[in-house]
Amino acid sequence: MPAIVLDGSRIAQEIRSEVAAEVNAMAAAGVRPGLAVVLAGHNPASEIYVRGKVKACEEVGLHSEKITPPESVTTAELLSLIEALNRRADIDGILVQLPLPAQVDAKRVLLAVDPAKDVDGFHPMNVGFLSTQRPGLVPCTPAGVMEILKRSKIAIAGREAVVLGRSDIVGKPAAMLLLNANATVTVCHSKTHDLPGVCRRADILIAAIGRAGMITRDFVKPGATVIDVGMNTVTDEAEFRRFFAGNTKREEAFRKKGSVLIGDVHPEVAEVAGALTPVPGGVGPLTIAMLMFNTVKAAKMRRGSRVGELSRA
Ligand code: NAP
Repeated sequence: MPAIVLDGSRIAQEIRSEVAAEVNAMAAAGVRPGLAVVLAGHNPASEIYVRGKVKACEEVGLHSEKITPPESVTTAELLSLIEALNRRADIDGILVQLPLPAQVDAKRVLLAVDPAKDVDGFHPMNVGFLSTQRPGLVPCTPAGVMEILKRSKIAIAGREAVVLGRSDIVGKPAAMLLLNANATVTVCHSKTHDLPGVCRRADILIAAIGRAGMITRDFVKPGATVIDVGMNTVTDEAEFRRFFAGNTKREEAFRKKGSVLIGDVHPEVAEVAGALTPVPGGVGPLTIAMLMFNTVKAAKMRRGSRVGELSRA
């Protein structure tokens, strides 16, 4: 039986509606949460991401500001910009779009963001809160993964979870969230021996490595839930055929655009897994929805009010 498709777009829409309702209630009480997005230089991919984030803010009624320092910006200039945003009462969330221009010390800049406004959840203070199960801001993509699992009623406690990838942005926080939700967690990376064998232990497999279609059926225990975080662009026709030959919809898209988006999980995994997130339309839409959620969460936490049900993710 083919895997159940876990519809990230639908879940993201559900979360956005909940966030919009919260924003309405806050507006009625005279508070409009605000997000500042810092986009330094001209990275075309970053420009697209930031456009999506600003549009999403507008849709849920959040105030948003895009600040665009030039490509030549210095670390000192960005630090003083962040300091000014930290001081502003009307800004609840600060997002520094990565990558920053090469001359900038990105770690220093991220460290300067007030942890209470760190809607990306990258500040070491928030990393510490997550690992010690204290309330804080959780990185958006792994928080979105947890929402997919919980809202799809996938049991987590007591089950084997394998996280493939150990980045600070996805792999490590995903592992910590699964551990906090009482899974037995294994984290794999490029030095892991017998990767397929370790992955086959998983009831829940999270793939976050950035390797197009690398996770084939040999990595997957029959019936497992597979969450595909990977976002890889395939432009080579032969590579495209390897994954999607015979898939009319994808072939049409490839012909039109000259590229196609594929996750880390090979399409053949749908024949083995019990449930699977698609790419696109899986984890991707959750990342922006959780950014909106984090902005409202930051606004509430800064004002000392209780945060809703969702924040327990
Ligand atoms: P990253 O920082 O490059 O980390 C990749 C991780 O995968 C590293 O831990 C690396 O191991 C491991 N890895 C790479 N090749 C491997 C291999 N052949 N075998 C085993 N492990 C391997 O990437 P990231 O930022 O976590 O992102 C991962 C993927 O998720 C990318 O495709 C990215 O585009 C996507 N992503 C999607 C969203 C979304 O919204 N859907 C958000 C963020 C990221 P080492 O540590 O040993 O090098």
